[in-house]
Amino acid sequence: MLLQKTCAGLALAAALLPGAQAAFPERPITLIVPFPAGGPTDIVGRLAAARAGEILGQQVVVENRTGASGTIGIAATARARPDGYTLGLATVSTHGTAPHLFSNLSYDPVKDFTPVTNLVTSPNILAVNPQFPARTLAEFVSRVRANPGKDGYANAGAGGVNDLGMIWFLQIIGGKMNSISYRGSAPALTDTVGGVVPVIFDNFPSSLPYVKSGRLRALAITGAVRNPRLPELPTFAEQGYKDYDVTAWYGVVAPAGLAEDVRDKLAGAFAQAVRDPATAAKMEESGAFPLGNTPAEFAAQIRAERDRWKGVIEKAQITLQ
Ligand code: GLU
Repeated sequence: MLLQKTCAGLALAAALLPGAQAAFPERPITLIVPFPAGGPTDIVGRLAAARAGEILGQQVVVENRTGASGTIGIAATARARPDGYTLGLATVSTHGTAPHLFSNLSYDPVKDFTPVTNLVTSPNILAVNPQFPARTLAEFVSRVRANPGKDGYANAGAGGVNDLGMIWFLQIIGGKMNSISYRGSAPALTDTVGGVVPVIFDNFPSSLPYVKSGRLRALAITGAVRNPRLPELPTFAEQGYKDYDVTAWYGVVAPAGLAEDVRDKLAGAFAQAVRDPATAAKMEESGAFPLGNTPAEFAAQIRAERDRWKGVIEKAQITLQ
């Protein structure tokens, strides 16, 4: 009787072990996108999920769980069962910047996750409502320096990359602006285009359509080179800010403890998805760069990003008000 019970217990334990799954995936997978619909994380997540689902033979269902610069959705990812059926889309905000600024964060960006693959990287842009007096970055800098604390800038979340990217730039130029934080790029853009807030620092893919249609005026883009989707827009570097660079990225993570075979299957499917010519073309059209690296490469990247932002935050003595 006791033996039987033990055997049954072992069988149950084996069935529950992630590595023991016969043919992963046997049911739909959830991808938690920690920012709202219409923003860059959502755009990238939905494109990748649709194609990866086809490759895996099971739907990858996107679930938007927003708030606190993406940390709420990513904390939920960390707490999920590491069985491959709950994944999250990590960003530079959830894994690079916020961990150094949020004292009550419930996760460690390295220890609590299994990195799967970094899907896409993207530059960031500084843009203004067309009513704003500055037509160039130089004019923007003069205006801000002459009017400390007068103007606000919209961003996708306090302590996230768009807030910090701007705080860092303001430190460099010796300027002061008010941070107006939203749950993500989509609502931040709505208010900038609507004239509620005059300035936005945003991931490029979400702002690009507004810049193209003239509803936003772009002043500078991050990165070493201009973006092929908007080649007329000069970089920060070529306008004199050589050491200033802010890159956004969106990568699939699972909770810590995911079995290697499941991880590798997911990594292969998602990497193939973003490299798929049709999906890659859509990513590139949005101004982003498809990547799809290996779990080991992504793990190294997360550590490097965490350390890089720690350095920036400490050097500039940035804290959240
Ligand atoms: N700016 C956020 C990040 O890079 C993403 C914002 C959004 O998707 O709405 O972490």
